[in-house]
Order: sequence, then C-alpha cells, then structure tokens
Amino acid sequence: MTTTTAATTIPFFPPDLFEDDRDLLLDTVREIATDPAQRFILGERTARFEELLRTDLGAGDVIACGSGTTALTLILRATGITAGDEVIVPAFGCAPLANTVLGVGATPVFADIDPHTLVMDPDAAEALITPRTKALMPAHMFSVMADMPRLRALATRHGLRLIEDSAVAQGAVLDGRPAGTWGDAGVFSFVQVKSFGGPGEGGVVVTSDPELARTVRMLRNHGQDGTHRFRHHLVGLNSRFDEILAAFQLRRHPGLAARLARRAEIATHYTRHFTPLATRGILPPPPGTDGRCYYVYTLLAERRDDLHRHLAAHHVDGHVYYPQPLPHQPAFAHAAAPDGHWPNAERAARQCLSLPVYPHLTDAEVERITTAVLTFPT
Ligand SMILES: *Cc1c(COP(=O)(O)O)cnc(C)c1O
Repeated sequence: MTTTTAATTIPFFPPDLFEDDRDLLLDTVREIATDPAQRFILGERTARFEELLRTDLGAGDVIACGSGTTALTLILRATGITAGDEVIVPAFGCAPLANTVLGVGATPVFADIDPHTLVMDPDAAEALITPRTKALMPAHMFSVMADMPRLRALATRHGLRLIEDSAVAQGAVLDGRPAGTWGDAGVFSFVQVKSFGGPGEGGVVVTSDPELARTVRMLRNHGQDGTHRFRHHLVGLNSRFDEILAAFQLRRHPGLAARLARRAEIATHYTRHFTPLATRGILPPPPGTDGRCYYVYTLLAERRDDLHRHLAAHHVDGHVYYPQPLPHQPAFAHAAAPDGHWPNAERAARQCLSLPVYPHLTDAEVERITTAVLTFPT
C-alpha cells in the first residue's frame, strides 16, 4: 500500500503563532492568579511594560490601554477634537481610522494614497485642509511607514495635530526615529496578528507631550488621576491593560527584534525575486529597509483574484486586506465627500494581495511561496 502526502497549505494566519510560548503563557496565568496582590489590571507589570517601551523608544511617556483602537480614541479625546472638527485620514486602511474620528463626533476627511507605498499622500492631504481641520492622522501600512517628515512639516505649517497610527509598525525606524514617536502621539496594538501581537487585546499611546500623557492616563480609567480613587476629573472611558498580557509581553520583548529581522529577511527575499514581475502586472512593495515594518507583505497584482486562486492551488494562503476603500464603506460613506475620488485607494483595494511573512516560516516554506508567485502565468 502506498501513501501520498498531500502538500499542506501554508496558512496566512498561522494557528501555531504562540506554540513556543505556550508554557510561558500558562506560567504567566499561574503567576498572576496566585500572586497575593490579586491585581489583574493596571498593576506593577503594566507599569514595567510601559517603562520598557518608553525607554526602548526614547519617548516621554507610554500609556497602556485596552486596544489600538481605543488608543486612537484616547488621543483624539485628549486633544479635544470634537463635533465640527475635521481629521484628515487615508482613504485606504482599517476601520479605526474612520470610526474613532466619528466616535468623538468629528468628521474623517479621506485623502488618497500613494499608488505604490499605499500610505497617505501628503499632497492629497494638504489639498483637503480647511479652517475646520484639527489633525492629520496618517497610518503606517503593510510594509511602509507614512511620509512622516513631510506630514510633520505640513502639520506644523498649518498648526495641526499629528496623530500617528503606528498600530502595525512597532519596531520600524525612519531616519533614525522610531515609529510611534513622529506624531504628537502614536499608538501600538498588541492584538494577535500585529508585529508584537499577544494572546488578547491591548494597545498603548506613545507621546512626549506631558500634558497629553497626563490626560490620556486619566481618560483610560474613568477620568481618575491614579491617586484619588472615585474622584473623576474628566469624562473618561474604560480602556485599561491586563496584567497577564503585560507579564507575557515583558518576557517576549527581548525576542521582538529578531522576529522583526526575520520578517524583513523574508520580505527582502520576496522583493528580490518579484521585482522582475513588475512589467508583468505584479508589483512588489518598494525595496529598502528604512521606515519599513513587515507586519504584512503586500503585492499589487493587476489580476489579483486570479493570483489569489493560483496561490491556493499551490497550497499557499494569501489574504486580501481592505477590499473596499474607507469612503466606500456603508458605515463611513455618509462622511465622505459626495464628489470625492480616491483612484489610488480604489486601485489598491482591487489589487492588493498579502503573503505569509511570519517569522517562523521555514526557508523551504518561503521558497514554496516564492515559487508559487513566480509560476503565475502572466
Ligand atoms: C489593528 C489596527 C488598529 C487597531 O488596533 P486594535 O488593537 O485591533 O484595536 C488601528 N490601526 C491600524 C492601522 C491597525 O492595523
């Protein structure tokens, strides 16, 4: 009797992301469950985690909170952005870019993106500035940080806040300056799929503005100042941080740089092999290492759906992030300019296809993925 082994599909979302950390997770749960302090949120582990990230970034303050989304909300609230105000956001990206702005009563104004880097185009953003504009909120995308030097200059020239959605870019550095520290405030997310993802929900606000930091710290816990319990200085929200996640992330932080380096190594391999495909309708992200964050590796393919099916037939799982631009989403269309056009965002939504790039891919798997793309008939 003969047995044949069917090729197993390389998943896009690997179920074994935390396989090596399972004992650590169980130990962490036990440690906190049996700690006499019985403190499960905003305890000393959260404080140590905030301090570790603060020193790592050279930032003024890091405030841990419930998620990347609420981190954006806390910043918008702390900067006083409210009804009647406008915030310029990219037209292509994830829902929090629009719904956090709408959530504070303000209006998201959608700017088109650069056709290749897929991040907000500073010229498109500048053309949308009105007397009501209060902030620019660019987001770092799949592999490339937004053009922060130009956006910083633009914000300064027009007296706007710069809110950096760096949720996916932890560890990226542009011109020697880490992602998260370019804006008046930035954010990171620790949800499972992000580059420093963990087993649960969490985020941080990063800022070097002491007044903003103080306000965010109060807002995350019902407007209390951390000293006087049940004295509410501000109308806050519940966006606190879990001690189990803090302990887990504290112990995994030393391995982060190596995991990011492995992602970059895989991405460099892909780009080297895919660059010749540019004339055949498959465009890899721009090469280079400055201002890059290989949270996800995304191709632009003219025949995206055909490529997606071809990869599946070759046992490689691709993924389409954001098949619709934000201004076309049913929930956000009412906020979008009725005569608005976002041709680059629309093209990105039609053409983007992401490949697996997680650090524990083996070299053989990276080769299989590379070959699967290279054998696409163009
Ligand atoms: C994931 C993400 C967020 C939100 O983070 P959560 O922790 O999931 O709330 C915000 N912005 C971008 C660009 C993201 O990718």
